[in-house]
Amino acid sequence: MKYRHTTAQSAEYLRLAVKRMTQQDAGLHPASYAVWYEYVSGINPDLQATIDARLKAGQRLDDEVTYALYAKHVAGLDAQSALRIGNSVGRLVDEVAASATEAGDEASRFGNSLEQWSERLAPAPTVIGEIIPGVADILRGTREMQRAISALQGRLEESTREALQLRQEVARAREEALLDGLTGLANRKGFDLAMSTCLEQAGQEKAGPCLLMIDIDSFKRLNDTHGHVFGDRVLATIGEVLRANVKGKDTAARYGGEEFAVLLPATPRGGAVGLAEALRALVAASRVKHGGQKENWIGNITVSIGVSDYCAGESAADFVSRADRALYAAKAQGRNRVCLAPRPQPEPGQ
Ligand code: GH3
Ligand code: MG
Ligand code: MG
Repeated sequence: MKYRHTTAQSAEYLRLAVKRMTQQDAGLHPASYAVWYEYVSGINPDLQATIDARLKAGQRLDDEVTYALYAKHVAGLDAQSALRIGNSVGRLVDEVAASATEAGDEASRFGNSLEQWSERLAPAPTVIGEIIPGVADILRGTREMQRAISALQGRLEESTREALQLRQEVARAREEALLDGLTGLANRKGFDLAMSTCLEQAGQEKAGPCLLMIDIDSFKRLNDTHGHVFGDRVLATIGEVLRANVKGKDTAARYGGEEFAVLLPATPRGGAVGLAEALRALVAASRVKHGGQKENWIGNITVSIGVSDYCAGESAADFVSRADRALYAAKAQGRNRVCLAPRPQPEPGQ
């Protein structure tokens, strides 16, 4: 993990980062947080030097510059860190919203008591003003104070609204960062996150988890024959098949180019092989529209699937690589089929 700060430390860095961010012309989005978080926490010397040079030259950091800095100096952010930053920002925003609301309430109570005092003093201000020296000044001061308090209250309400909006933006950006744009399935980061959560809970379930690694058969030939646009449509169609048939606690992801993965917590191997077989058959029966000069529907699109069922204590990498080996076995046996990975043999003497 890239960020090793404690919660208290990261909350402090975020406070500093938010302060810096608001002085710039860039939007308050996660790329901005990441850039300024790394800047204020001093963990990214290259980024810090680049920003310092810009600030020294009196240049502000607008959206374009911020994204460029993010891409160059930060983009390797791993999923856990992204989530951690998102959570810290969420907490910070909640705190800001709560204290703004509290301050607004205080201001309103104070404003009301000033109002009552003005009313009590108001009936004969000139007389009182003459009798008690300074009362007129107090009255004037009270009214000014009331005006200042209403303005402050307005600003606090605005801050609360902005804080809540920011929280929604962070939540949305975080969801988007874990999704694949073409298929709408989880992307590799989303998959890795689902996998680590799943393995943390693996011992508590009666069965599973199981994993399906799915690879499109002869996809290179499909692309070469019908073009990449058609190839992308095939990916989207398989994405739809997976989305429609993988639900609840299960996660379907686009693992890489033309490879998909399905993670099935609390599922026995028989259930996983059954689902794999159903998915294989659904893909084999599907037709994908080819929008060339003459529109037609292309079939014979197939996938091979490797299935592994989790062995207690196994690493995520081994769990995936056993499913991968089963996938290669399915390819070697002629494609358009499902293979189950053998369970690893215990070492002699164990
Ligand atoms: P096999 O049955 O052994 O899996 O054969 P294959 O042709 O599918 O496998 P290979 O790994 O040789 O080729 C995969 C091809 O998938 C290479 C690349 O052209 C294509 N591909 C990977 N990602 C994408 C993508 O995002 N869009 C499109 N259109 N094609 C992709
Ligand atoms: Mg492949
Ligand atoms: Mg392939």
